[in-house]
Amino acid sequence: MAAVTFKYLKMNNKIIFITSKHRHLLVQAIDYDGNILSQYLNNINDHRISDIIYTCDGIYVAGVNVTIYKVNVTLSDANLNVDLVPVVIKNPYPLYELYSLRFSPNNLICALAMVERKVQARKEALKLEIIFICKEMKPESMLDTLLSNPMKKLTHYWDYIELLRFQITKLKWRPKLDFNELYLSGAQDIYKLKIYLIFLTYISGLKKVLRLVDVALPETSTDIVKEKILYLHAKQLLDNLYTKCQNEGQLNDLDMESLYGTKKYLEYYAKKYKTDNELDQNVLNALENSCDYVCQCCDEKIEGFTCKSGHLNMFCMATFTPICSDNYLMCQCCNATSRADLEIENPICVFCDLYLIKPD
Ligand SMILES: [Zn+2]
Ligand SMILES: [Zn+2]
Repeated sequence: MAAVTFKYLKMNNKIIFITSKHRHLLVQAIDYDGNILSQYLNNINDHRISDIIYTCDGIYVAGVNVTIYKVNVTLSDANLNVDLVPVVIKNPYPLYELYSLRFSPNNLICALAMVERKVQARKEALKLEIIFICKEMKPESMLDTLLSNPMKKLTHYWDYIELLRFQITKLKWRPKLDFNELYLSGAQDIYKLKIYLIFLTYISGLKKVLRLVDVALPETSTDIVKEKILYLHAKQLLDNLYTKCQNEGQLNDLDMESLYGTKKYLEYYAKKYKTDNELDQNVLNALENSCDYVCQCCDEKIEGFTCKSGHLNMFCMATFTPICSDNYLMCQCCNATSRADLEIENPICVFCDLYLIKPD
């Protein structure tokens, strides 16, 4: 019988090797010379083991009869101790077979790859279903975790956001949140503004459908909130470019383009929202010459962010420069675009903090 998965981890200078043999879970402690020091072999529940996975909070093993166990492995001296803790699933899925599972970054959501057994019996085409289940957790505590995220980036917190979206749109949960305070703190804190944008998107979507009036938001235009996010991003970018210029004595071509674009955006924002343009004279001095771009529709010169005829051109949200080639990056969540030649490893979206990818 072929084993489905081979996994190993290191513990107390030993290798802990984990695999399955049909219905049995095999865990071995091996020293660096390849000698087996201790071994655990146990029939889990008379059903075939279909997957073993590692997550941020431990190892999970899945049986084909839709059972999931957390595997706690400890090693004292050379003795292995393996403890299996069943994961309680509210819906037991008696007609399904579980073939694989994966958890979201914070283990809040689990995707189960399942096949309905009665379909097999009827000899129809095999259909694999992906069923999402989530950890039982109060939305208030998910919201608290999201707001107090020390990283101040949404990148690894989208499972919290997805569950909050589910609570708001499907279960009609209303966040007890002071939206005025959140929006006000967003004037300086780009992370808070990104969270505000997420709630605005979900709640305004619901308002259209259900004519909800019980949630009052201080700003209801997503365009205005996005422009504010870009404004804070532009200020941050300007600071970074200034520091880079001071440290390295000069800026490369992409930085110069980006500096020019940032200046244009801050001028546009100051004019539109009648705020002071806080551009530092030192930064302006670094900007020796301007960059000329032409409209992709009519070949006229682009002034600011459009040509004279007001044609829409694709812009890079990370650098405020036009995207002039087919080679660009995109956010799968909000469709924000970005140049592909950014000199950053794994660039992320300015609005969602999700990794940008090449469009299909
Ligand atoms: Zn044009
Ligand atoms: Zn995005």
